[in-house]
Amino acid sequence: MILFIHRKDLRTSDLPAFDAISSAQESSLHVLILEPFLLRNERYLEHSGLNFLRHVSGLQQEYEHQGKLLHILYGEPDDIVRSLAGVHPVHEVRVHADYTPYALKRDRLLRDTALALNMRFHTHHDSMLCDLDDFMDWSGRSEPFKVFTPFYRCWRSFLHERFRPPYSAGLQELRTVDIHPQIAGNYRIPEEVTRQLTALAQPAQTMNPSHLLEDFMQTEVQHYAVNRDNYSQEGTSRLSRHLNTGAISVRTVYNRLTENEHLGEEWLRQLAWRDFYLYQARLDPMFFNYENVYDLSALGTHNFEAWSRGKTGIPVIDAAMRQLNETGWMPNRLRMITAMFLTKNLGCPFIYGERYFRLKLSDYDNTLNRGGWLWSSSLGYDASPYFRVMNPVTQSQTHDPSGSYIRTWLPELSELPDQAIHLPREDAIVDLKRSRALAIELYKEILSSKRAAPQE
Ligand SMILES: Cc1cc2nc3c(=O)[nH]c(=O)nc-3n(C[C@H](O)[C@H](O)[C@H](O)COP(=O)(O)OP(=O)(O)OC[C@H]3O[C@@H](n4cnc5c(N)ncnc54)[C@H](O)[C@@H]3O)c2cc1C
Repeated sequence: MILFIHRKDLRTSDLPAFDAISSAQESSLHVLILEPFLLRNERYLEHSGLNFLRHVSGLQQEYEHQGKLLHILYGEPDDIVRSLAGVHPVHEVRVHADYTPYALKRDRLLRDTALALNMRFHTHHDSMLCDLDDFMDWSGRSEPFKVFTPFYRCWRSFLHERFRPPYSAGLQELRTVDIHPQIAGNYRIPEEVTRQLTALAQPAQTMNPSHLLEDFMQTEVQHYAVNRDNYSQEGTSRLSRHLNTGAISVRTVYNRLTENEHLGEEWLRQLAWRDFYLYQARLDPMFFNYENVYDLSALGTHNFEAWSRGKTGIPVIDAAMRQLNETGWMPNRLRMITAMFLTKNLGCPFIYGERYFRLKLSDYDNTLNRGGWLWSSSLGYDASPYFRVMNPVTQSQTHDPSGSYIRTWLPELSELPDQAIHLPREDAIVDLKRSRALAIELYKEILSSKRAAPQE
């Protein structure tokens, strides 16, 4: 019997592990483990946790709909695998790989446990569009690309030649088995999480990412290059929360996009940014450690609270933070503007904003979020230059001239004329010009403070 553990792959089609299980022609025990660490501090009540649970609930319905068995457990994966192996004839564990520091540590432990119990442990690559090892071989490079544009050119040609189409085995082909009742009882999910799962259950069709993709391809993709930064309208796909939970695979998205190659170059570039960050997470040993590589001690946190609550007195910043706090969503351009404002104008270390987005973004992804924060604070590969400090007022005037976004999220300003609505309020907590000049000095210093990364 094969034990399959669902993680950031909350779907039932185009799964490398399903192909492997199907070829093995064996029965499989399918579990999804809610890990205490990932749900700590009541994260299941925050937008990011809710999005994950909503997809868990959707996956559960999909299994039921197809007459198959999925068991949702709560506990330490390593402990659960040990217990399962005690009562089920499992000889192999299969998972899709995850590359964050927490996940790598967890999986090392899981592998050791599996091997100690005489079980094989297989990880399948799933999250990137290009297979990293194959890509490195094909590009003939021993060093990673550090700049996006050459990476993109190479990545594009690689996919043109070597794209691996979606995997074909579906859940219907698998023989899923029931779990021992004692295990189900010992690792039962907490009452409050069960309540959330029930409350979040939606009719399957409402959340189907394939429909979202199809709508976007039919109506929006051809206008994407123009509309993506007009954040008062919805010009982007809104697929991220599905991609990051694995509710839709990036191969399926690419396959659909390239059916008509001329339509989506600009959108393809964004998918390449996604791969570029996932690539860095695996190849840049400092990616998850830049806060220890540079000396950030000249920065401070006294304005963090005002930023997070949308009380800075800079209208577009406050509007964006209000949208985030209320809905779990913020368009990409506003993520860049608010992140740069926090790290540069307010001089706050990027990890504070990163942590805040971790809770609040419904499409939160550890790697992409870090990538966005590194970019905004001029750290890491191909980041914004240290002297780049976006001016939130001119950004707002350029991308939303009538201020309709601000009017929606800050109704108290809705009566202001177009010229006035973007401007700092009287009680603004910072002077944009002065803080910009200071930030340039500070970040110049920070970048020159690079030291060797501390060993783990
Ligand atoms: C400070 C900051 C934090 C961010 N945190 C996250 C995060 O936690 N999770 C997340 O998914 N994205 C994050 N992003 C990237 C980007 O903002 C979102 O991916 C995008 O807004 C999602 O909207 P969409 O699905 O409509 O994207 P579209 O514009 O339709 O793009 C399609 C897909 O391409 C990828 N993509 C688009 N823009 C980027 C980008 N700049 N970097 C990497 N991949 C991109 C995403 O997977 C996205 O779903 C962050 C960006 C910044 C500046």
